[in-house]
Amino acid sequence: MPFSSPFPALTIPKCNLLEYLFPQEKAPSDTPIWIDSKDTTQHLTPRSLLQWAKRLALGLDRIGSKAGDVVMIFTPNHIYVPVAYLGIVGSKRIFSGANPAYTVSEMIHQVSNTQAQFILVHPTLVKTALAAAKGARLPDGRVLLFSDEPCAPMEGCKDWRGFLPSPADGNAYNFPVLSEKEATTTTATVNYSSGTTGLPKGVEVSHYNLIANLEQTIFMRYLNKPWDADTRPRETWIGFLPLYHAYGQLYTIAMAQKLQIPCYIMKKFEYEEFLRVIQTHKVTHLQVAPPIMVMLSKRPETAKYDLSSVTDILCGAAPLSKELQNEISRKLNCEIVQGWGMTEVTCGAIHVPGGTIDNSGSVGQLDPNCESMLLDDGGNEVPEGQPGELHVRGPNICLGYWRNPQATKESISPNGWLNSGDIAILKNGWFWIVDRKKELIKVNALQVAPAELEAVLLEFDPIADAAAVGITLDGQEWPRAYVTLKDEYKGKTTTEEIHVHMKIKLAKHKQLVGGIVFVDEVPKLQSGKIMRKVVKEWAKRDAGGM
Ligand code: AMP
Repeated sequence: MPFSSPFPALTIPKCNLLEYLFPQEKAPSDTPIWIDSKDTTQHLTPRSLLQWAKRLALGLDRIGSKAGDVVMIFTPNHIYVPVAYLGIVGSKRIFSGANPAYTVSEMIHQVSNTQAQFILVHPTLVKTALAAAKGARLPDGRVLLFSDEPCAPMEGCKDWRGFLPSPADGNAYNFPVLSEKEATTTTATVNYSSGTTGLPKGVEVSHYNLIANLEQTIFMRYLNKPWDADTRPRETWIGFLPLYHAYGQLYTIAMAQKLQIPCYIMKKFEYEEFLRVIQTHKVTHLQVAPPIMVMLSKRPETAKYDLSSVTDILCGAAPLSKELQNEISRKLNCEIVQGWGMTEVTCGAIHVPGGTIDNSGSVGQLDPNCESMLLDDGGNEVPEGQPGELHVRGPNICLGYWRNPQATKESISPNGWLNSGDIAILKNGWFWIVDRKKELIKVNALQVAPAELEAVLLEFDPIADAAAVGITLDGQEWPRAYVTLKDEYKGKTTTEEIHVHMKIKLAKHKQLVGGIVFVDEVPKLQSGKIMRKVVKEWAKRDAGGM
């Protein structure tokens, strides 16, 4: 029997995300919400953001972009990224964020795979974007500069401000109304995830998915806390999570607007600057991933700053030990809870309810309107307290993989169950994530798909075969490769040459920091599939000797 959330079902509005976040009957406020953390005179209020978003939507109409087009954003965080997100999604276009660390090859994959019509690129990344646009055969003129400051044309690309209509024209623009059916079927975002297997794939998230996940997350985060807008304690957030990822988008853009919480946006993550922003602006709530918890614990700079304003930390996106969780909770004297999610569940599906003290390392309870099943290798439900592969169903489960019905079929059952590939234990309604069955490696809480590493390794001529896997060293996962060389290269090709090849092709977090090992043979099944269990065992054995 599937396990149902113990919380009462929520009624989820079915409309355009923009209408949900900016209801017609309520005038948008003039309080700064998205504030540049280094120059606080640079900020956007809900009113100014809405004006910019309308101008962007109309500007895109006027340069020939249509509803349903994918518009890709390739930039570090800045206060106008929320404008792009809401302008694109609100106008029935599709927002796809690309990691600003991407190389040309990675960008070509995402541009071709999404079939993006336009790329909004930060001036510092224009060369990569143009090379990718060319590689993906995007017509000329589709790459637009997108910075928080006006900029002169570069490499033939013009500033996005140049094609915006006047503010008066923008104000007259109305975002399209979505019927209930359209809200559930219209794709709003396509972020990338490798799911349980294979290459990174676009995850199609609808307007309804986003609204559901906002309602669910807000319900869970404030369950035992004052909710009334006038009486609840004022919150201040810091926006350093990448805005090309579902986690950053849900909190820093959508939830900050929904709850009207000022959020100091960091363009670039530097640890000491992060501490300074918390101290200076008395940040109260942090949404983090485990690497930040490690820094809070280990980096000596932590002690130099007054972090007493922080009352709540939510940690998700990768495993966090209860020891580290409890250590930071004591050190900062604040509530630290975990949440579990994945791009395919829009953002989160399991949260520790707000106001609960948890020191057991649990990722929490199932969000309202969700069901779960924990299955063994044979597809049977495991008894309570036993580990099983976590399957989830609910209104926040994505529509599927973008233009990839086969991958969708393999991950989401016809009756809506998503296979997470994570191994969990359920006890008395609480979940613990204890292992990962899927291929995914997480580096700095970012996804690394072994299949992608293997494909890039095989592009290097001397390599005959390769298997990539995560190796855990000092509590952190790193990609490691077991490689077979072609006979004529044996004893000649070095690991250094392979590292150089990988650097050209892949972003920093995908580098083989866990090492490259030459082996006689990559273990394979008769079908040609890599025996990942065996390779994982090798990595475990090797980690013991390192
Ligand atoms: P992403 O789609 O990039 O958000 O990655 C999703 C994956 O991150 C999940 O399937 C898990 O493997 C991992 N993950 C997310 N949250 C947690 C958590 N609280 N504890 C352990 N792993 C997590």
